[in-house]
Amino acid sequence: MKIPEPKLMPAYDVIVVGGGVAGISAAVAASRKGAKTLLMEKSVILGGLATLGLISWYEPICDGTGKQMISGISEELIRLSVRESFDDLPVERGGKEEFARPNDIRYATHYSPTIFALLLTEYLEENGVTLRLDTLATYPDVENGICKGILVETVGGREYFPAKFVIDATGDASVCHRAGVPTELGENYLTYVAHTLNREGAALAAEGDFCKARKWIMAGASLTGKGHPEGKGMLTCQTADDVTDFVVSGGKLMLERIRQSGKEDRDLMTLPGMPNYRKIRRIVGEYVFDGTEEEIKFDNAVGSMGDFRKRGKHYQLPYTTLYNKNFPNLFAAGRIISATGEGWEITRVIPVAALSGQGAGTAAALCLKTNTDANTLDTTLLRKTLEEDGVLFI
Ligand SMILES: Cc1cc2nc3c(=O)[nH]c(=O)nc-3n(C[C@H](O)[C@H](O)[C@H](O)COP(=O)(O)OP(=O)(O)OC[C@H]3O[C@@H](n4cnc5c(N)ncnc54)[C@H](O)[C@@H]3O)c2cc1C
Repeated sequence: MKIPEPKLMPAYDVIVVGGGVAGISAAVAASRKGAKTLLMEKSVILGGLATLGLISWYEPICDGTGKQMISGISEELIRLSVRESFDDLPVERGGKEEFARPNDIRYATHYSPTIFALLLTEYLEENGVTLRLDTLATYPDVENGICKGILVETVGGREYFPAKFVIDATGDASVCHRAGVPTELGENYLTYVAHTLNREGAALAAEGDFCKARKWIMAGASLTGKGHPEGKGMLTCQTADDVTDFVVSGGKLMLERIRQSGKEDRDLMTLPGMPNYRKIRRIVGEYVFDGTEEEIKFDNAVGSMGDFRKRGKHYQLPYTTLYNKNFPNLFAAGRIISATGEGWEITRVIPVAALSGQGAGTAAALCLKTNTDANTLDTTLLRKTLEEDGVLFI
């Protein structure tokens, strides 16, 4: 049988691949700046790890000593995440005074991933982004470093979408990697997250506290590797066999965990719809952010951020972490940007993924407006535009 030619689909100014928090932020930013924007997502639930992966804790947008570090679309998203469901924000609730609580709880929150996913779909629509679910980007069409479009696989067959700019927000840099952008693989502990409801939680729900009722439980390793199975080594995600082993081994650990309590006492409400790898692959961009940049101010920053693990830390994210110069119409956003070591830890979490998404989406739209590319974009204009759109530069 001959493999059919792909069907030619409408062209877009900006195509964003991946509907996690980074892709959503990038698409909304590009669309608000007037770019005809398509977001394609291989699953049928928006939010990526932050919903489908059951990571239902929005890390802080403050520095932990009373200063807000991140605003813009990322702040819109933390507020959206709890608009229709429970939360445990410090004091929501009008104004900024909640950031002025040094040494108290940080401006972070639990949220319902299922409700957040539905709200994200509405958010894209409200912001004029065309959404295509069930659309797996297979190969970027690259000639001399220029990405002319994206080949996809869908229930309707193979399709080809021409694009002026492409933003890779896949969480695994698969678009950039297949385009030929240099990348680095991440190493992971085995972690498997689920959501559970037990008798104690049900009682709390009956009293009206759903935040404590829906419990996030983790099998396998913590952030620091505690609980990683002995002898397993660090895990990379390069093949479907890797993914299968990761998910099946993690699922076994989850079963062991729930077997510790009686079957009448608890339920697993939902399982992760994507593997809980923290770091799959990241691009090697013009600048590699390694976390040693504390208090350094970059002229070309796309915003500031703290460190979710430590208080009082201040960083700025350079624009040059978002692309590789040999691929001037291809941006990266989210947990795949050019960051390594401690820098990768700081930048991969939800609030910063949204920040880099807004930076990439705004940059792509400004390139279109000013007839420039990633290398020639006026970064003073980029920063001024981001500032006008509420992004903070601390
Ligand atoms: C175990 C664990 C615990 C964590 N805990 C926290 C936490 O408590 N708080 C926090 O803030 N962060 C946490 N994180 C990190 C955070 O959740 C993620 O790094 C962040 O959500 C990444 O967002 P993203 O948009 O960059 O990528 P992703 O969420 O990975 O989104 C990528 C999207 O692209 C889609 N996609 C991929 N390939 C294709 C393709 N070829 N075609 C079309 N679509 C594609 C995927 O389906 C997905 O929807 C945790 C991560 C893990 C693994």
